Amino acid sequence: MINAPVTDRISSATASPDGSGAASLECAGVVKRFGDVAAVDGLDLAVGSGKILALLGPSGCGKTTALRLVAGFEQPDMGEIAVGGRVVSSPAGSLPPEKRRIGMVFQEGALFPHLTVEQNVGYGLRKDDDRSRRVGEALELVGLAELRRRMPHELSGGQQQRVALGRALAPRPDILLLDEPFSNLDANLREQLQRDVVAILHGSRVTAVFVTHDQRAALSVGDEVAVMNRGRLEQTGDPATVFHSPQSRFVAQFIGAVDFLPVHVEGEGITTELGVLDWSGGAGDRHGCVAEAPAWADTAADGLSDGRLEMMVRPDCIECYPDDGGRGVIAGREFQGAFYLYRVRLPSGREVRCLLSHTAEYPVGEVVSLRMREGHQARLFVNGRLAGAARLG
Ligand code: ADP
Ligand code: MG
Repeated sequence: MINAPVTDRISSATASPDGSGAASLECAGVVKRFGDVAAVDGLDLAVGSGKILALLGPSGCGKTTALRLVAGFEQPDMGEIAVGGRVVSSPAGSLPPEKRRIGMVFQEGALFPHLTVEQNVGYGLRKDDDRSRRVGEALELVGLAELRRRMPHELSGGQQQRVALGRALAPRPDILLLDEPFSNLDANLREQLQRDVVAILHGSRVTAVFVTHDQRAALSVGDEVAVMNRGRLEQTGDPATVFHSPQSRFVAQFIGAVDFLPVHVEGEGITTELGVLDWSGGAGDRHGCVAEAPAWADTAADGLSDGRLEMMVRPDCIECYPDDGGRGVIAGREFQGAFYLYRVRLPSGREVRCLLSHTAEYPVGEVVSLRMREGHQARLFVNGRLAGAARLG
């Protein structure tokens, strides 16, 4: 991690060490309190040079405070923050924000209303020969060259956010911090802009932290996804791993829809209301996190009495089909356009959700059977923590 004496390493991070324009970012044990509230409470985070980290978490979990600490607008009570391997913040001292080569884009673009698009983009640049060239490049990058003379009020919300992005990128920062930049835009525009921004960020070779409370945005934008809860990270990983192998109930429920069913142990058999679990062939899929079966099977016996052993299923993992001898009944359905999201009631009264194509149109009350889709695995949780994976046999 970060280990040379702090005072030796506080330096003006004028250029990234590899000269690429991007720098790595590291937070180690960072704590920030406001009175009694620990807004950031032991944050460990690492973003590789040129990577996009999607930082996801519920409102109030400390995302904005974390970004403000990285940018230098807040000082940590404990811990260190390093950019390109150099410490820029610690309780012993901090580099001022303007010397950090860090750009920020906020939820509200906060453009200067009396300046044109190009004046906004050039605002943070020194008035030298390079300025107009750099403004031109930034405008090209965000696709606004044609609109350079417009005023902010003459732009759509999406265009305004592009100007904010161009303004943040114009000084060629090593790190770009984006704090819920699209949350005020409507859904279609947001998705389009997200795709564009990923391309722009990769094209500009900047390291980025993209804060969002929207799990779909996090999964599609991030090279890595970090899930934050109560001031610290619960899990970091590539999007597929975080989605398919959440380490805790909190992460499972925060990223996507999920249902949990109790797991029963009877003699050799380990069953759920969806069927018998078979771990014997369970080498795990590519997102695998498969405990050796005996490790959790032992625990299973203890878990039996109070429901501490559970199986996690996402609606895309299982399918239901009409079957007169089935054990499930369709209790409700939600039309989502391309899909139906069904709620299927099981004999215990518990419900699981099941996502099917719009062509699978079943009425409420239909008797159905359930099965796990090909290639999917059930994740097993002991005491709310991921313990392994198994197939339904
Ligand atoms: P998020 O961006 O994830 O919604 P924030 O970082 O804004 O969360 O806030 C985290 C917690 O810290 C909240 O409880 C918030 O009320 C508190 N907080 C943030 N900034 C301040 C401040 N300047 N003074 C007091 N409390 C603050
Ligand atoms: Mg916030």
